[in-house]
Amino acid sequence: MIPDYLAEALGEVAADTTGETAGYIPELATADPERLGAAFAMVDGEVYGAGDIDTAFTIQSISKPFVYALALSDRGFDQVLAKVGVEPSGEAFNEISLESGTGRPLNPMINAGAITTHSLAGPEGLQPTQRVERITDGLSAFAGRRLKMDESVHASEMEHAHRNLAIAHMLGSHGVLTGDVRAVVDGYIRQCSLLVTARDLAVMAATLANRGVNPLSGERVVPEPVVRQVLSVMFSCGMYDAAGDWATQVGIPAKSGVAGGLIGALPGQIGIATFSPRLDSHGNSVRGVSLFERFSSDMGLHVMEVP
Ligand code: GLN
Repeated sequence: MIPDYLAEALGEVAADTTGETAGYIPELATADPERLGAAFAMVDGEVYGAGDIDTAFTIQSISKPFVYALALSDRGFDQVLAKVGVEPSGEAFNEISLESGTGRPLNPMINAGAITTHSLAGPEGLQPTQRVERITDGLSAFAGRRLKMDESVHASEMEHAHRNLAIAHMLGSHGVLTGDVRAVVDGYIRQCSLLVTARDLAVMAATLANRGVNPLSGERVVPEPVVRQVLSVMFSCGMYDAAGDWATQVGIPAKSGVAGGLIGALPGQIGIATFSPRLDSHGNSVRGVSLFERFSSDMGLHVMEVP
């Protein structure tokens, strides 16, 4: 029944060919724009899907909440909050901005915050390659299988990383980042280049929905208070300058990525993932947003609604 429902929903959004694949990363611009898939992972471990749910694509910004979870677990709340705030920015994901007064990035979902969060994953003093390993291990635990990196997407993005490098240098000038800031950007872009499928993303979201325990492997990936923090920040900041529209219309903690992935996690219930590469002006998947609007209203998933 659920696969039929999902297939029907995909059929309804398939005709929408508006939006563009991410143009600023050449390797992503060439993605097949017609790909379309959706997966549900329940907290009891059932996974349902329709369409392209086993097609691999890079995780991009959907890595941000998971790496934030790892940083909070590895370093504790105080150390992380001293360097990255939790205020919605109302700005684009790649805005070059810091909180006035504190000099911190506003939140961990925009690039300035995510680059900083990347530097806080793992214990203090890790080499850049060890940090990338810690993150690959951690995100693999969320997914319940070993994730690999797409080296060509990494190389392609690094060649055009002027904006993220500018952000990192600004963070360096404020003392938020220390040491080799280029190595931090390289590691952050490696984190964004991990390959996932919609099925993986649904399980990763379900691990958040399931209090930090992967519903397939049974492994506790991060502690419960960390999950509450991460879901709260996803709710207020996960969709960048479209976060308010999303909170009112869809009402599910969520995160998008520029390769076309989109996740939502409903505490105690379900992890949802969609994949469709064409993006709107905020960098969110056009058909992904439509699918989530549909799922939320069809199934009464808005967190502010009494079920
Ligand atoms: N790697 C991308 C960047 O830093 C991620 C952006 C995104 O998915 N919104 O620009």
